[in-house]
Amino acid sequence: MQMRIGGKEVSTSEDRWIPVINPANGREIDRVPEGTVYDVEDAVREAEAAFDGWARRTTRERGMVLLRVAETVRNRHRELASLLTSEQGKPSRDAVDEVRGFANILEFYAEISGSFHGEFIGLGQSGDCLVRYEPLGPCGAIIPWNMPAILMGWKVAPALLAGNTMVFKPASLTPLTVLSLAAIMEEAGLPPGVLNVVTGTGEGVGEAIIRHTAIRKISFTGDIETGNRVGELARASLKDVHLELGGSDPMIVWNDADIGKAVEGAIRGRFYNAGQTCTAVKRLYVHEEIADEFIPVLRQRVEALRVGDGSNPAVDMGPLTGKIPLERIEALVRETREEKQGKIITGGELLTGTGYKGGFFYEPTLVTEPAPGCPLLREETFGPVLPVMTIPDLDAAIAEANSTRYGLGASVWTRDISVIKQVFSDVQAGVIWVNRHLTLPPEVPFGGVKDSGIGRENGLQAYRSYTRTKALYMNW
Ligand code: NAD
Repeated sequence: MQMRIGGKEVSTSEDRWIPVINPANGREIDRVPEGTVYDVEDAVREAEAAFDGWARRTTRERGMVLLRVAETVRNRHRELASLLTSEQGKPSRDAVDEVRGFANILEFYAEISGSFHGEFIGLGQSGDCLVRYEPLGPCGAIIPWNMPAILMGWKVAPALLAGNTMVFKPASLTPLTVLSLAAIMEEAGLPPGVLNVVTGTGEGVGEAIIRHTAIRKISFTGDIETGNRVGELARASLKDVHLELGGSDPMIVWNDADIGKAVEGAIRGRFYNAGQTCTAVKRLYVHEEIADEFIPVLRQRVEALRVGDGSNPAVDMGPLTGKIPLERIEALVRETREEKQGKIITGGELLTGTGYKGGFFYEPTLVTEPAPGCPLLREETFGPVLPVMTIPDLDAAIAEANSTRYGLGASVWTRDISVIKQVFSDVQAGVIWVNRHLTLPPEVPFGGVKDSGIGRENGLQAYRSYTRTKALYMNW
């Protein structure tokens, strides 16, 4: 596939390509251009040229374009989901959910597009003031490979609704769904140049977008180390910056929890998308009074997960998305085993052989009694490995929950309102779920505290973050 700049397909000028690999079998399914700084300059020029016309439309008119896009995406969800599975690996039904999730985000912003107004401030004898919310200009967005369609929706929908234009960089592992969605957006009525997609490396294309002086805001999703670099570069050129970074979400299962539901929550929370989700359950804390009942049920469910090529409808968990993500998980479990940092009660091996040949498959893995402060508990585990600990009381659970540098999401499983209240007030996170984990409808503002990031996706908050105020002060 080619890049999309100014409403056209654009190829590489230097004949440099990035292969796109199906993680279920290691085969190349397509390739995309390795874009250059010159491609970024062209894309920004197009975004600048398109800005005036797009910003002059009413918010409602822009919302109607998003609605038409959503309708087209819903009509073509099967084809898009199959493309997503083939480049990213998630099972077909999860890919369908993700593509529909993209449409859902656009529909949410389209729905609220008629409700944005400015402000009137009466200042008595000295006059009156009107405040309007204006778009910022061309914005940049950079995303990782774990959920390309959802992450694209989170960034594109509020930014474009507010009247901005955008230069977008997908991850090199998963550029195809983003390029296809961008093409569909244009077919459905998005004017050329409003959204431009440049493929390429983070150091090349990513940094060129951030450094460009005409880009007014950068919205970045990725890991903490990259996010720090992005933040530094963006601030050096006085850009607004939004960082959605890693997480290590704790899940606390209290002694009165519905064990069956909590087990299902942990399974979905950890093993959805082969564990490659920012808000996955990455540390599980079970009340010691129910641990003996809970852990065997959890283990049984983990062992029943069917791992394989996501295009097979019977599969529960697909491969990891690439060789590097797989190697990271393998190294982490190897260290856990060799350094005796926990008991691997199930899983802990690469999956090879029939059905797995050439793919990046890893067994769903449970580790009990992880050593305090070991990497599994301290760092973000971006794969299907779940450490399980027991906790004696709520103070200990909350202290553990807050013991990392992350603060994205957290969940508590209980019927006890006082436990919910304490978790809600004391656990450091941008979202606290009760008796669920992972779900993030577009109405709900979402983002991290501590090293998990700055800024919010979703909801009115995201829309406002793509605007700035301009005041008119009238002395009658
Ligand atoms: P990554 O930081 O390596 O890459 C993310 C994107 O940044 C890619 O497009 C990459 O090409 C680009 N990039 C790399 N170096 C860059 C640079 N110097 N300048 C500009 N761009 C650069 O992250 P990853 O490993 O692909 O993704 C996994 C991480 O993303 C995990 O930490 C996960 O938790 C996080 N994540 C967070 C959220 C959230 O909403 N908070 C959502 C999904 C994923």
